Amino acid sequence: TQITNHLPTKELQALDAAHHMHPFTEDAALAKKGARIITRGKGVYLTDSEGHEILDGMAGLWCVNLGYGRKDLAEVAARQMEELCYYNTFFQTSHVPAIALAAKIAELAPGDLNHVFYAGSGSEANDTNIRLVRRYWEVKGKPEKNIIIARKNGYHGSTMGGGSLGGMAGIHAQGGLPIPNITHIGQPHWYEEGGDMTPEEFGLIRARELEDKINELGVDRVAAFIGEPVQGAGGVVIPPSTYWPEIQRICDKYGILLIADEVITGFGRTGNWFGSDTLGIKPHIMTIAKGLSSGYAPIGGSIICDEVYNTVANSGEDFNHGYTYCGHPVAAAVALRNLEIMEEENILDHVRNVAHPYLAKKWSALADHPLVGEARLIGLMGTIALTPDKATRAAFASETGTIGYRCRERCFANNLVMRHVGDRMIISPPLVIKPEEIDVFIERATKSLDETY
Ligand code: PLP
Repeated sequence: TQITNHLPTKELQALDAAHHMHPFTEDAALAKKGARIITRGKGVYLTDSEGHEILDGMAGLWCVNLGYGRKDLAEVAARQMEELCYYNTFFQTSHVPAIALAAKIAELAPGDLNHVFYAGSGSEANDTNIRLVRRYWEVKGKPEKNIIIARKNGYHGSTMGGGSLGGMAGIHAQGGLPIPNITHIGQPHWYEEGGDMTPEEFGLIRARELEDKINELGVDRVAAFIGEPVQGAGGVVIPPSTYWPEIQRICDKYGILLIADEVITGFGRTGNWFGSDTLGIKPHIMTIAKGLSSGYAPIGGSIICDEVYNTVANSGEDFNHGYTYCGHPVAAAVALRNLEIMEEENILDHVRNVAHPYLAKKWSALADHPLVGEARLIGLMGTIALTPDKATRAAFASETGTIGYRCRERCFANNLVMRHVGDRMIISPPLVIKPEEIDVFIERATKSLDETY
């Protein structure tokens, strides 16, 4: 764009600091060092304003699954803007991109998840879910069945609703969250919290907290349980094998709705269309966003099963909820093309049979590094835990998170994006990553770990 072509980095940084307030950032601290200005992207690589080529091990924010710079997606967006840049779907109208995308999503989604309510983001979609499950029970004549059970350290977005469903202490500490009638149980984070138990024992114990919570509240008060099949922002917490079957059993036994937040795990991240497929979960509602459009346009939504949809749709009243950009035609057209490309280019097969096995071998070898306590990967979603003591899985004692932050800084200096969550490094590269790019990834990651003190 004109501005990036014409202004030197320092001036861009000064303007950024003067006028742009960054999400999840201590802005004054960032202003002192200046943001790194990203100017272009191609495939798995980003370019910054100084000309560095950075391997994006996070696919942006877990979203650019088809990689950067695809002309085919850009062309679809341009065409749709000319044809119909915007129209709403509120007042007895619909349009082709929203219809075609909903049909495609319903085709890909498992079971009777046949209905799509659009949103502009994952957070908005989870706000929809809060209202939808409460509305469902209202229509069923049980308005008091309105509590949603979520998990500590889960992440479901940062609107008031999404932030309330999430269980991150730092988010709850600011702004009066959570909103009423949302409560949290423990997370299945064996490595950090499982002590001497086996992962399988610990998985069962954590899942049974749901049953305890339902009994404590009374089943007549509980509307739904929400969880990410694999917690992402919480540190790529791959649950023990016992966890989800037990959660499923409990939801079935008590007849509460199960919401799988697939914002990260949806659309191929774990090697199947949905994380629920990979982990054997049968949700009533899925939250989707991110990989739905490979991040080329902001779009999210809820995929809703027949029973919930039919109940709300046949209530005799409007469902009083929606956003101006529900099913935005440009975003929907881009998302539809994104899903078609995933099929045409066999992206799931690439994840399952090429990228995952190739990366898994090298990733698990990182566990031999003196700093690394565990290295885990599901599909193309991975984590390594940094520890001073591999045997006890201890955390670094001083200033939790500092070492992860330093490792992330070393990665960034070495032109690799890896994110950190406390003492844990996490990755989620574009699904199209090739073996030779994985070699570069591992080389830069190893160098960065070597340089972390
Ligand atoms: N749910 C999950 C599991 C997420 O990881 C995220 C974002 O990272 C969200 C919801 C929120 O999505 P958005 O940032 O698009 O609002």
